[in-house]
Amino acid sequence: MTDAGVVVVGASAAGLAAAEAVRRAGHDGPVTVVGAEPHPPYTRPALSKALLRGTGGGESVYLPAPEADIGLRLGVDAVGLDPVGRRILLADGDSLPFTGLVIASGARARTMRVDGRGETVLRSLDDALALRQSLDRVSSVVILGGGFVGVEVASACAAAGVSTTLLIRHSRLMPRLGPQLSELVTGAALAAGITLRQVAGEVELIGNPVEAVGTPDGAVVAGDLVVTAVGCHPNVDWLDGSGIPIEDGVVVDSRCRAAPRITAAGDVARMRGRARTPFWTAALEQARVAGTALVRGEEASRYTPADFFWTEAFGLAVTVAGPLPAGGSAETLAGDLAQGSGLVRWRGRHGRVTVAAVNHRIARRKLRALAAEAS
Ligand SMILES: Cc1cc2nc3c(=O)[nH]c(=O)nc-3n(C[C@H](O)[C@H](O)[C@H](O)COP(=O)(O)OP(=O)(O)OC[C@H]3O[C@@H](n4cnc5c(N)ncnc54)[C@H](O)[C@@H]3O)c2cc1C
Repeated sequence: MTDAGVVVVGASAAGLAAAEAVRRAGHDGPVTVVGAEPHPPYTRPALSKALLRGTGGGESVYLPAPEADIGLRLGVDAVGLDPVGRRILLADGDSLPFTGLVIASGARARTMRVDGRGETVLRSLDDALALRQSLDRVSSVVILGGGFVGVEVASACAAAGVSTTLLIRHSRLMPRLGPQLSELVTGAALAAGITLRQVAGEVELIGNPVEAVGTPDGAVVAGDLVVTAVGCHPNVDWLDGSGIPIEDGVVVDSRCRAAPRITAAGDVARMRGRARTPFWTAALEQARVAGTALVRGEEASRYTPADFFWTEAFGLAVTVAGPLPAGGSAETLAGDLAQGSGLVRWRGRHGRVTVAAVNHRIARRKLRALAAEAS
């Protein structure tokens, strides 16, 4: 490729991995990673776990610095893409030409209000630091959403001795894990003293900042702090008018290509025909494909859906390889889930195999191999 260089928009997991893949694929021109946040790139999964519980943080959240010949331009948003002139427009008025572009602008927390006014969410390092400080001041927290982030926040609240209510849509927490695992997590949350309240229908946020949630049955659930944890929304606004295909994320082919010389990876990307998979391992593995495909085109390997996920809450460390939700006939390979630790394999419909380790040490590679060899 000759060469205005490669620009990567988004300086997080996918952006850095894509930049390094571009280099490894043989591109020797400039590579610049543009990131909106002023912080050095950091890892998001730690925010709702060690950092929020106060058992980690500081340096430990930062990702290793990129290779020396990858430029980082932090604290500035990309605000536009001119795909014909091949330029990225920046919020500070500057623009960057490119020969190749990786879109890795990730996602932001979904909010209940259109503008998120008065809502507390957890997506960024700043959000996590602010939330951790709040936990020292408050005695009650209401969390809207029983998915991974909501449950991990609830776990940190319980550990901080804060009275915690989770408002959930389904009867169990983390329903995406499948019935057995989600039952296990739900039991652990109840044992930790969390109040679960199932809410069918639309809720209303009250106050600015939000101080209570109105439920469809007319109840008002109040807390010193209310946290919205209802999923994430891809950061695609800056691509408005660019002609890049967007449908709940940047739509990409099996080599993460969105348009000629433009690829996308991570939480912002959606493989054609599949749902977005806003998880760490998928972000990294898509990024490697996106970076390589930018340089090597058809020679790059196709992305194989990563199907790997982990979470930690209420003393349970759950790692899953294979499609979610885990379901079908279960086979215990080690331990006993009912006792809170074990290794279990589910064989679902269409030969779908999922393996989960709960409080059970096993190398990620081995867990993935167990799921793959049985499929
Ligand atoms: C609290 C929390 C806990 C999580 N825990 C887990 C877990 O346990 N396991 C798991 O598998 N996954 C977990 N995830 C998901 C995982 O962190 C994401 O899948 C991963 O961070 C995606 O990386 P990314 O680089 O695609 O996007 P992001 O991490 O969202 O990074 C995108 C970056 O691009 C920047 N950006 C956005 N727009 C622009 C713009 N216009 N110009 C310049 N820069 C821009 C953003 O500021 C951001 O820094 C968690 C996520 C959160 C929020």
